[in-house]
Amino acid sequence: MSVTRASRRKDIQISLSNMRKILISVVTILLCAACLQAVAPAKFDSNRAYEDMRQLVAIGPRVAGTPGAQAARAYITKQLQAAGLKVEEQPFDATTPLGRVKMVNLRAMLPATGAAQSAPRLVIGGHYDTKLFREFTFVGANDGGSSAAFLIELGRALKSRVNRVPIELLFLDGEEAVGEWQGTDHTYGSRYYVEAARKAGTLKDIRAFVLVDMIGDRDLVIKREASSTKALTNAIWDAAQRLGRREFVNETTPIEDDHLEFLEAGVPAVDIIDLEYATRTGEVAWHSKYDTLENVAAGSLQAVGDVLLAALPALEAFGTRR
Ligand SMILES: [Zn+2]
Repeated sequence: MSVTRASRRKDIQISLSNMRKILISVVTILLCAACLQAVAPAKFDSNRAYEDMRQLVAIGPRVAGTPGAQAARAYITKQLQAAGLKVEEQPFDATTPLGRVKMVNLRAMLPATGAAQSAPRLVIGGHYDTKLFREFTFVGANDGGSSAAFLIELGRALKSRVNRVPIELLFLDGEEAVGEWQGTDHTYGSRYYVEAARKAGTLKDIRAFVLVDMIGDRDLVIKREASSTKALTNAIWDAAQRLGRREFVNETTPIEDDHLEFLEAGVPAVDIIDLEYATRTGEVAWHSKYDTLENVAAGSLQAVGDVLLAALPALEAFGTRR
């Protein structure tokens, strides 16, 4: 009797110790899974970005101050909110050659973790408006569509990332000239944004501005932009080289775009743009009826998404060693 009782107690002890071992293993596995999730690199999904681009094109022209632009804002806001992001509107009146036009920038903020919450933020932006053409229907799959779609998907990717500094996604209105690109007839959204920050004394809270524009070209070739801040350009091109992304080439070309408004205000800025945009048969697709879905590709958005995510640690650290 006593022998049996003792062995039974031993059995119970063994099973208790086994239970403890199993519990420890389970907890360890769960903790590791949590760790992996926390350090897992953010993923940019170009299929989702392409779908956003398709939806924006389906709206039709998205000229600043028109119902098309309003529909684009509603779509962008809905997608960002679905990803758990808060969206703020920055409305303003722009004085254009066609008179006063009501324009709206959209801003979405991704907070940093811990003490970095009050660190100067990184602003990543692009325009969502399309250029006004009366002689044909301009849907801007690439010019206006690709940048907005890219930023929406970047929001989804960054939402689950541990961001070392606050990151703002900025959807600019009124990049396009109402008439010819001259004087102040262009980059209305970025000019207003920078001016508002200057007046509020908050320009110093912007670490750097990264601009994406016309990054959907199915034959993507991105050259270094001549006026862009060298260190920012280098950080991005270094990442492209590490990933073997040949879309980023080492030639340099000057392009006037939204980043100039930031540079003129003393904010470091870089423009990621491919202005040489043509159809398969060689027609000019830039500012033409050929800027349609046939001439853009998800793979191009993927290239820029992968490179920008790989460059992010360097961009987040930018300015701290100045
Ligand atoms: Zn344009």
